Amino acid sequence: LLMAYDPARRLARLQVRVEAAATNARMLYEILDIEPLQRDTDGAKALEVTQARIEFRDLVFAYGNGRRVLDAVSFVAEGGMTTALVGPSGAGKSTILNLIPRFYDPEQGAILIDGQDIAKVTKSSLRRHIAYVSQQPHLFEGTIRDNIRYGRPDATDAEVEEAAKMAYAHDFIVAQPQGYDTAVGENGVTLSGGQRQRLSIARALVRNAPILLLDEATSALDTESEAFVQKALDTAMTGRTVIVIAHRLSTVVNADKIVVMQDGRIAEEGTHESLMGRENGLYARLNNLQTVRADI
Ligand code: ATP
Repeated sequence: LLMAYDPARRLARLQVRVEAAATNARMLYEILDIEPLQRDTDGAKALEVTQARIEFRDLVFAYGNGRRVLDAVSFVAEGGMTTALVGPSGAGKSTILNLIPRFYDPEQGAILIDGQDIAKVTKSSLRRHIAYVSQQPHLFEGTIRDNIRYGRPDATDAEVEEAAKMAYAHDFIVAQPQGYDTAVGENGVTLSGGQRQRLSIARALVRNAPILLLDEATSALDTESEAFVQKALDTAMTGRTVIVIAHRLSTVVNADKIVVMQDGRIAEEGTHESLMGRENGLYARLNNLQTVRADI
């Protein structure tokens, strides 16, 4: 009976529930720092990141129901560059993002970071090198400071503020009733969509991870907020390996590489110019239909 109250055991049970409940990517990423439940493979080493070059090699993946969601997916996200994933809904873009922190493992193939197979490194070392920004971020019960510090629990107050400044969040934070100590979440102040996004970006910046995964889920922001969010994102993306599920045309056009997905496969890849130059290419067709914003 005593064992049941052992804090470690209670935490382990909580993790089971959290992981079981985390059916969507957003929730999974918010528990990036919970100690992974599954044991690492024997002899797993800590991931060592130099360039943060990510190679996806012949990935085959299916969720529980067995239907192939990724089929022979290979591409490289070069270190320090931005790779945009585009393609119709259901093509497999989020699934690729889910495989990087190993929320799921592929059935076949491998992901290598700077040449190291991520299946063979410790999950905690892998996840330490990854930050995630969703454009529909979740804020936890707690203060603004807590919400930013969640990106790296040992960050100092000065580091939290520095990240907030870089994310263009500092000014609206100090204008809140208790500044950084203002409560947010269900029982706290209500922040606008753009403000929440900037907190999410500050959270990623304080984490200071070399790999940034970005989910640009379409969200309606007023023009001013949009401009601030874009500036904050530009700061966050600089010098990092970014893989972005892109919805904004500007993100796609500015990406170093665009990977166009369809039905779990890579239809084509290249820069905006090279893909637009392909007669009858999927990307060119989608662009010419001007559906790039809505459908990509
Ligand atoms: P969207 O732009 O709509 O998010 P996507 O390109 O990101 O689409 P994924 O979310 O990767 O596509 O989904 C690929 C396929 O896998 C879809 O058919 C989807 O229904 C399925 N799928 C996604 N998540 C799960 C899950 N947790 N369990 C079972 N099937 C899933």
